[in-house]
Amino acid sequence: MVKQREISEKEKDDIQTLMRFVGIYCRENHNGERTPFSFKLFDIKEIEKKEISLCTECTRLLTYGLTMRLKCPHDPKPMCKKCETQCYHGDYKAKIREVMKLSGVYMIKHGRVDMLYHYFV
Ligand code: SF4
Ligand SMILES: [Zn+2]
Repeated sequence: MVKQREISEKEKDDIQTLMRFVGIYCRENHNGERTPFSFKLFDIKEIEKKEISLCTECTRLLTYGLTMRLKCPHDPKPMCKKCETQCYHGDYKAKIREVMKLSGVYMIKHGRVDMLYHYFV
């Protein structure tokens, strides 16, 4: 495991949000094989107790999203959609927007409006 750094409370909130949104998206949209998600930069169980299982594509997307969040140079961090130094490249940007949108709709339908404060849509 890579040497871990201190993660701020704001980073933890964002990481938890990303994990939950990608987890819902994968569960609701992908039927293939899923494996439990883990992340080399820190023990995600310290942030999100509930284990999530993801397909290969969603594992790649979440790994990218968490990495970008931890590398974010802004403090305080703006909402990503309003950020002037967009860091998501290529397909990742469109993909994460789709995830946040579809999982956001899912949460509204399931009464989880509290989860809808987030930073990508
Ligand atoms: S898009 Fe901007 S605010 Fe969002 S993680 Fe990247 S650099 Fe930070
Ligand atoms: Zn998936």
